[in-house]
Amino acid sequence: MCNWSNFQLHKPTYISICSKLTYNLIEALIFLAHFIGDVHHHQPLHFGFTGDLGGNTITVHWCHMKTNLHHVWDNIIIDSALKTFYGSDLANMIQAIQNNMTEGWSNQLSLWECCQKNQRVCLNLKIELISKELRMDSSGGLLRWSSFAFVMFVGMATVLVPGALGWSKEGHIMTCRIAQNLLGPEAAHAVEHLLPHNLKGDLSALCIWPDQIRHWHKYRWTSSLHFIDTPDKDCTFDYSRDCVKDLCVAGAIQNFTSQLLHYREGTTDRRYNLTEALLFLSHFMGDIHQPMHVGFTSDEGGNTIELHWFRHKSNLHHVWDREIILTALKDFYENDMDLLQETIEGNFTDGIWYDDVSSWKDCDDLLSCPNKYAVESINLACKWGYKGVKEGATLADDYFNSRMPIVMKRIAQGGVRLAMFLNEIFGDSEEGIASAA
Ligand SMILES: [Zn+2]
Repeated sequence: MCNWSNFQLHKPTYISICSKLTYNLIEALIFLAHFIGDVHHHQPLHFGFTGDLGGNTITVHWCHMKTNLHHVWDNIIIDSALKTFYGSDLANMIQAIQNNMTEGWSNQLSLWECCQKNQRVCLNLKIELISKELRMDSSGGLLRWSSFAFVMFVGMATVLVPGALGWSKEGHIMTCRIAQNLLGPEAAHAVEHLLPHNLKGDLSALCIWPDQIRHWHKYRWTSSLHFIDTPDKDCTFDYSRDCVKDLCVAGAIQNFTSQLLHYREGTTDRRYNLTEALLFLSHFMGDIHQPMHVGFTSDEGGNTIELHWFRHKSNLHHVWDREIILTALKDFYENDMDLLQETIEGNFTDGIWYDDVSSWKDCDDLLSCPNKYAVESINLACKWGYKGVKEGATLADDYFNSRMPIVMKRIAQGGVRLAMFLNEIFGDSEEGIASAA
């Protein structure tokens, strides 16, 4: 009854489907993970020529070290990159690769995942592609390969394509760190319990996860959860009109909040993945506070309004996602995100927003409060985002100086409200700002 076509590891039902099998599923899992690596790590020389055993018999020098061509591709390029660009920190390098998946390579991901239905055909296709690439490249020699490696790693270190992903990673990380600093002991404990162990309770480490996985086949349905499209120039938000089937950022916050409310009933409830629910809630609380995430339908929240940010090309959505934050970091905070975050926190613990904080946290019903945040965002988008901006414009000092305080305030509000949600959900509703201050 159990054949490979219904054997899907990511479905919790796989145990019941296959429990009577005589296969050793542990070995199978390890073999599969390894061979997908071999095929897929795109090590072209695992599909090399017979005569030279995939480059193993071709002796070459890497700098002054004698080695062979196969080994260059198996190890040396990776090791050199690790040392040169990532301070020998593998976690750093993995993070850079993942960042490229959300930004630089994001539109290629669907191609990489092209075959969900017939795994065998998929592998053959990939082997064929890799062999073709190898044949095309074989005339170029080592010089060409090392320049390919260079391009690849420079690419990892840079943001290649501005994406419509919500706050940039900086915005999300600050939102989550601000929230985490405001958690009471029960919520802090629950968060630490739900996060993977190696993160040691650092929520901000996975706050951008929903952006990283939104193009994966399994999570493609979450793509529309990052924003709300509202009627052009209307400057209003109406849940039943703009959030059909709950598939928008306000609906997502509701949904993952209700899931997390089951936490107290014990973690044995397998209907929900509460770790994912926590990551989604934390991310979407950031997104709903980015004004252009509740924008006009026809310009996709400013994404299609192309313009210049100072001297480089950008678009209106991206200005609010990232450009304003990056310019502020560069001009005022020596690119030190901790310093910027401390400034934002200082503004509400005893600064200009101190008196406003209690109204930010005002919320009688967790499930309907996100609507209020969405209304705030579309109002800000109209008054400050779209205002005075035409396609092809150049936005510079005036726009930056007047909008930067709004961006910082929205990050603060997102953080304070995320903490308020988590404290309510996990039972610390009396804690929060007071205890942190
Ligand atoms: Zn997002």
